[in-house]
Amino acid sequence: MENTILGLHHITAIAGLAKKNLDFYTKTLGLRLLKKTVNFDDPGTYHLYYGDERGSAGTILTFFPYEGARRGSAGTGMATNIAYSVPEGSFDFWIDRFEKYNVIYNKPSEKFGEKYITFLDPDGLKLELVIPKIQDNRVAWETDEIKAEVATKGFHGVTLTLRHIEATAAILTDIFGYKLLEKSGNRYRYITESIDSANIIDLVELPNEARGIGGAGTNHHIAFRVKDEEVLMQFRRKVAGAGHGITDKIDRNYFYSLYFREPGGVLFEIATDNPGFGIDEPWDKLGSGLLLPPQYEARRAQIEAVLPKLD
Ligand code: ZN
Repeated sequence: MENTILGLHHITAIAGLAKKNLDFYTKTLGLRLLKKTVNFDDPGTYHLYYGDERGSAGTILTFFPYEGARRGSAGTGMATNIAYSVPEGSFDFWIDRFEKYNVIYNKPSEKFGEKYITFLDPDGLKLELVIPKIQDNRVAWETDEIKAEVATKGFHGVTLTLRHIEATAAILTDIFGYKLLEKSGNRYRYITESIDSANIIDLVELPNEARGIGGAGTNHHIAFRVKDEEVLMQFRRKVAGAGHGITDKIDRNYFYSLYFREPGGVLFEIATDNPGFGIDEPWDKLGSGLLLPPQYEARRAQIEAVLPKLD
């Protein structure tokens, strides 16, 4: 199964104020700051990575925070909901925490036999805590306030909202190896059995819904995980062979990537496990320095001067 898609690798979204984003994800939600770097295409803005202890694929959420960014609006052609897996019995803890930190949330509900709570980040990005039917054995990152018995364990899955699901579903099933698990109304749940976590993609079909508009509080793309560059390039041939335009291999410092826009409008990426987040910092210091790719190192002083302060 190793030469296939291994669930989600990471999800990337857009934020407003970097400091607010950092506080919410590391303090309120208790994720680890994995990496503080810059947008490789726009080095005057941060690229912040959050996840578990070592930034395991399937736990990595990244943001491009733009000070003064206009808010986007969720809609079709977008990932519209990121679901985190949490342990059984943790909801009381999370509801108390959301009350304490004025997080907007809904009371627990249930879909496909799994209990969940929907909540919003400071920019209105929609997130969810889910108690999965099948126990999640991943080791959670702990903080002083959020211990392993309640902490998030990484992604459960992601929801894509689409005008029509067929063409997107075909990529999931025919190229990526997912299968339709369940359907409820206009929600179709796809799963890959190549891995037992971060393996769910829900497609929600809304033919009359407006297209999503990118901006703070919306998702930018979702990345699927492969083991290494050899598998990555096998998928490049498969995606191109099915008639979709796909980029060349891009070096993202912590992984290698390909991007293509699936026919439903969502930007898909395929990303490798290698080389990982230990490449430029010791594991116990992840996220502590501002890391620049080699092409920007000579301009470090100017870049640091324009980036917003995070502490
Ligand atoms: Zn990405």
